[in-house]
Amino acid sequence: SALGTPSVFETLESEVRSYCRAWPVVFERATGSRLYDEQGRPYLDFFAGAGSLNYGHNNPALKRALLDYLARDGVTHGLDMSTTAKRDFLETFHETVLEPRSLPYKVMFPGPTGTNAVEAALKLARKVTGRQTVVSFTNAFHGMSLGSLAVTGNAAKRAGAGVPLHHAIRMPFDDYLDGQLTDFLWFERLLDDAGSGLDHPAAVIVETVQGEGGINVARAAWLRGLAELCRRHDMLLIVDDIQMGCGRTGDFFSFEEAGITPDIVTLSKSISGYGLPMALCLFRPELDVWQPGEHNGTFRGNNPAFVTATAALDAYWRDGALRERTLGRADRVESALLDLCTGDGRMGLTVRGRGLVWGLEFADGERAEAVCRRAFETGLLVETSGPRGEVVKLLPPLTATDDELDEGLGILARSVRHT
Ligand code: PLP
Repeated sequence: SALGTPSVFETLESEVRSYCRAWPVVFERATGSRLYDEQGRPYLDFFAGAGSLNYGHNNPALKRALLDYLARDGVTHGLDMSTTAKRDFLETFHETVLEPRSLPYKVMFPGPTGTNAVEAALKLARKVTGRQTVVSFTNAFHGMSLGSLAVTGNAAKRAGAGVPLHHAIRMPFDDYLDGQLTDFLWFERLLDDAGSGLDHPAAVIVETVQGEGGINVARAAWLRGLAELCRRHDMLLIVDDIQMGCGRTGDFFSFEEAGITPDIVTLSKSISGYGLPMALCLFRPELDVWQPGEHNGTFRGNNPAFVTATAALDAYWRDGALRERTLGRADRVESALLDLCTGDGRMGLTVRGRGLVWGLEFADGERAEAVCRRAFETGLLVETSGPRGEVVKLLPPLTATDDELDEGLGILARSVRHT
């Protein structure tokens, strides 16, 4: 390409590539909160693999566990084979996550990535109830395969399917009017009216904070109202915790703060902790109506991912230190972002978030994109989200130091002021 001819590297990959297109460098190394390009230039990473690197890049404890496992010639591929790595993971997950929270869930390995967990959750809900319709929310994102795409709110993404996507209806996300949960009132009337024509839903699927949808935070009271609606009308509640789980909002599960217990939970992204593909579908034991083989796939038992997932749970979830640290830093990030919203020409900026997931909403996608580009040029990686790409999303590693947080927020502030 130095001679003006594009290289194979520049032309071979499809235009479907989406994330990270605004970063015109080739990355080579990554450690902690930083990525380095092949020229050795450092970038503070507040994108963190779209939330899959809550413990940072090449986290030392996880890396040691993985290297030890590989040095012992540990089993790499597993399918549904029983392995020591899988046993260690299940026992540690039970001890550090399920038991302390009195959560009774069974664990299913639905496939390598988030959408596999959502597909399994939807299939299970339909199988258990014998019903087809699933309720989701405006601006929801649940994945790109046909079932998860059907419950995704973004019309442009749904159009990419090329076939009609059925059996999904959408409600407004966390919409209060005069303090009333008005959505639930009208929806409940439809559910109660046998003549309404509404096919009684099997389930409701929700993110407690919509990540791809623009960092829209559901209020705890709304989530409790939703759980109550599901209970009263015999619909299963699925919380998709793929992006907000594993400590992003402070608690291990993002729904803990609202005090609700979903029937089904999906996890992926940061569960392996090391950026390795891994997904979980959790459900109440009485919902385990699967027959052997009704849902399977080659890359489910990813043993290296089990190893790093176990090391992450051991290192960060045996005590409450990471949770406290995350919750304790939310105010710091929020006040830095609120500072940006005051002053000339910055009216109309909005800040939303919880724990260490924050969004800064601009008037339009062009402005947000320009801020991300400017941030990249000055050493900070952030991406946009939201229906028009108008929200700059901050997902720093939970392990970022205070200095790194301040440095990233400083770069962002300068990028906003100079764009
Ligand atoms: N659900 C949520 C809430 C997500 O944020 C994502 C990915 O961003 C998915 C599902 C899909 O996960 P994957 O991209 O691993 O299929």
